[in-house]
Amino acid sequence: MFSMARLTVIAIATVVLSGTAFAAGKIPIFVSIVPQKDFVQQIGKGLVDVQVMVPPGASPHIYEPKPAQMIAVAKARLYFAIGVGYEKAWLPKIAAVNPQMRVVHTDHGIRKIPMQAHHHEEDAHHEEAEHAAEQGRSTMTDEDALASHPHKGGQPDPHIWLSPPLVMTQARTILGVLQAVDPAHRALYEDNYNAFISRIVQLDRELRDLFSGRQGLQFMVFHPAWGYFAHAYGLRQVPIELEGKDPKPAELQGLIEHARGSGIRVIFVQPQFSTKSAALVAKAIGGQVVFADPLAADWFANLRQVADKFNAALKP
Ligand code: ZN
Repeated sequence: MFSMARLTVIAIATVVLSGTAFAAGKIPIFVSIVPQKDFVQQIGKGLVDVQVMVPPGASPHIYEPKPAQMIAVAKARLYFAIGVGYEKAWLPKIAAVNPQMRVVHTDHGIRKIPMQAHHHEEDAHHEEAEHAAEQGRSTMTDEDALASHPHKGGQPDPHIWLSPPLVMTQARTILGVLQAVDPAHRALYEDNYNAFISRIVQLDRELRDLFSGRQGLQFMVFHPAWGYFAHAYGLRQVPIELEGKDPKPAELQGLIEHARGSGIRVIFVQPQFSTKSAALVAKAIGGQVVFADPLAADWFANLRQVADKFNAALKP
């Protein structure tokens, strides 16, 4: 006779066999989002097995882990959190499932700016970006960003994985933790880390070159994921989404007028959100909707691609 307990065991076994088990002999690690898997693998190479909590196509702001993932998390040794929205509700539950697992906050040491929410703040941003350009600076300091932003009480912007300089800080945290849990391979992790950092420095240089002389120019996005990227390279992000919501008709009209007045012809969208409002604005201005994914698997290739798309869309 089948008992409930036996059925549960069979269900769990099926889940584990269907691919959520960690590889034997490697450090079992969970991360919140896809780009973090790339970061941890760059430093851990063949010594780590990394699973991602928020799957491709899902939004890290509101994700709810599947029961199978909570089972897999019980086998992990490390959890690299990054500060995305879903963690607020779920990280305590994830930690409770596996008290032996070390939860690491890779946003440690990063000063966050408030999430960009209101398009009528743009005038301040504009002056600020022009000011930065005049002074030959391509990056604003955190203090500048905070001081110029009227929404000091706003939600901190979690999209820290989209700024190469901030990824260097995250890489340092990942290195320290891997060396601590696996001291036998300290030197190897250090070498991998150094190689990773060199590639980020190279990318950062390329992007600075690409956007040099384009400071203060603006790109329009549905979801404001590119705030740190914009800050790093002196660009202006104009979001359609306001505090996580679609704009009201009057706000939409304001955005359309702004886009017309600024020569904006491209609206950037990402696969994790509806493209409806973006399509409306694009249609109204006779422009087009273009994908820029903040959560792609190959971080280097993706940032280069997105940078090229932004650059092509910027109008002096
Ligand atoms: Zn986001």
